[in-house]
Amino acid sequence: MEDIFELEDKVILEAEDYIETKEFASAEDEDRYEKLLQAYKRLLRQMRTMVRMSDIMQSKLNTMSGELEKLSQIDGLTGLYNRRYFNEIYQKEWRKAITDGTELGTLMIDIDYFKVYNDTFGHLAGDLCLQKIAKSIEESILDSNAFVARFGGEEFILLLPNTNLAQCTGLAQKIMDQLTLLNIPGAIKTTDGKVTISIGIGLMKPTEETKLETLINIADQALYRAKKDGRNCWRA
Ligand code: GH3
Ligand code: MG
Ligand code: MG
Repeated sequence: MEDIFELEDKVILEAEDYIETKEFASAEDEDRYEKLLQAYKRLLRQMRTMVRMSDIMQSKLNTMSGELEKLSQIDGLTGLYNRRYFNEIYQKEWRKAITDGTELGTLMIDIDYFKVYNDTFGHLAGDLCLQKIAKSIEESILDSNAFVARFGGEEFILLLPNTNLAQCTGLAQKIMDQLTLLNIPGAIKTTDGKVTISIGIGLMKPTEETKLETLINIADQALYRAKKDGRNCWRA
């Protein structure tokens, strides 16, 4: 790194040389000059320490602001990305899909009869259930390029860039199968007494003329059909 005190170091060297070679008018003069030089050296040492400290603080601040940014993207309960960050990614992927002329898919996932689950087992058990399902969804999409976030409450949303209907339905089925394997005991209304989910699939090729919310609405309507058709299923 470039030494920002290069000029000051030069001044010290010159002053030392001056003391060695110059004939001072009196010993008192020489002593005063020597003291001044020592004070200047001390000052420079202090400046160096301060610069070092400020470098350390700057690097700590950088680390903390990076960590804060990451935290602001995460949902506290499930550890998934939150809705705010989803919106950011969604806008980016939407633009990319327009540029590339590719289809964008989304899966809206909603836990069935979750209010009854809370009423039956309590909210803390409900929280645990949300965490288990979040983890299960995360594991189901590990080998895909899908992005998952907690959309709010007991709803999750998946974004699938550059996809097609077969990939979307395949992933929806995989997520449902994975949850079945978990075998989480559900409240009274649920299928086979197990916790289940319903999934609405939305798929479209965004253009400059289409609106961002359209895809979410399509998935929402499909989710509504899945609920109407008895839950524990996906609809596209
Ligand atoms: P449906 O099958 O139609 O989706 O019924 P539902 O009961 O799942 O839907 P509803 O919208 O009636 O209830 C959602 C419930 O999710 C109500 C709310 O208390 C619960 N919930 C939302 N967020 C949380 C959370 O963070 N923790 C817990 N424990 N419960 C939550
Ligand atoms: Mg819901
Ligand atoms: Mg629900």
